[in-house]
Amino acid sequence: MNFTTTFRHLLIAFLVLSLLYFTGCTQSAETSEEPAIEWALALHGGAGTISKDLPDSIRQQYYDGLERAVRTGELVLRDGGSALDAVEQVVRNLENNPLFNAGKGAVFTAEGTHELDAAIMDGSTLEAGAITGVTTVKNPISLARNVMEESRHIFFSGQGAESYADQTDVERVENDYFFTQNRYEAWQRAQGQSSNLSPESSPLDREWLIDKKFGTVGAVALDADGNLAAATSTGGMTNKQFGRVGDVPIIGSGTYANHIAAVSATGWGEKIMQQVSANTIANLVEFGGYSLEGAVDYLLNERLQPDEAGFIAVDSVGNIAMKMNTPGMFRGSINSNGEQEVMIWENE
Ligand code: ASP
Repeated sequence: MNFTTTFRHLLIAFLVLSLLYFTGCTQSAETSEEPAIEWALALHGGAGTISKDLPDSIRQQYYDGLERAVRTGELVLRDGGSALDAVEQVVRNLENNPLFNAGKGAVFTAEGTHELDAAIMDGSTLEAGAITGVTTVKNPISLARNVMEESRHIFFSGQGAESYADQTDVERVENDYFFTQNRYEAWQRAQGQSSNLSPESSPLDREWLIDKKFGTVGAVALDADGNLAAATSTGGMTNKQFGRVGDVPIIGSGTYANHIAAVSATGWGEKIMQQVSANTIANLVEFGGYSLEGAVDYLLNERLQPDEAGFIAVDSVGNIAMKMNTPGMFRGSINSNGEQEVMIWENE
């Protein structure tokens, strides 16, 4: 090989390398031009077996309700509002919608009444407020927030929660305000069917036979200041026994937020509690090297059984996970880059 050939080879190699280098630079420049997510919000209206035979008009009512709740959160976050305000406003909106099992539309207890649970958590301070078994508070999530901000305690139950509510200005209603015909019929079926169930039937069989969906509501958000928050509210499970407390108001089970992630659960509360699910998801991300979606998948597939639960979660950089191991989950999300969706089933 003479000098000219060597020189030519070197020149070609140089040109190829330069080309590769500049292509790489352009690509990374393009990647870094992706705007970072400033704020993000996800919400759910319960997981379960939601029939695809849902009449179009009812299906549309659910989509419209979810859309309105997404808009409620968007309005708060787009104007620089806090994640805490966003999740409270979204959950209030869903509590006021009779389609969902929280606030108006809550399921019936075995005694034919309504007992409501709710919790809210501020990821930036780890402050939290929770209430269980309230019967006269129109928007339980706002009472939970009041507990978080005004009380020296975190969790009030039953009569104590009612007495606490007396000291606040939260709106009160008669217990039958929460009545809806659908939930009443589901309860009637539950009462009728409980005599047909064997003593070995799991609570899940009971719930499945009676009303194949849950309907709890929840929201998680990241705000423009980088703070995370979570809120969840529910009437619990149809025909639940006196004083039954589900996962929702138990900090770390159905509701959790810290500086890493905010999580809200829905599904079979007893199972969700056993896995301390919402906190475990945040811990898998913080200590286990899991992505947010990977952590939610791990809980749903490795810790819980099929048909037990669904989770919504957001992390500190705005990643959103909305997943379930049930056939459906009412859910929606939006972020500052304009990405948004509203869905019920797995593949829509
Ligand atoms: N997790 C709730 C409970 O067990 C029920 C639901 O998600 O609908 O109280």
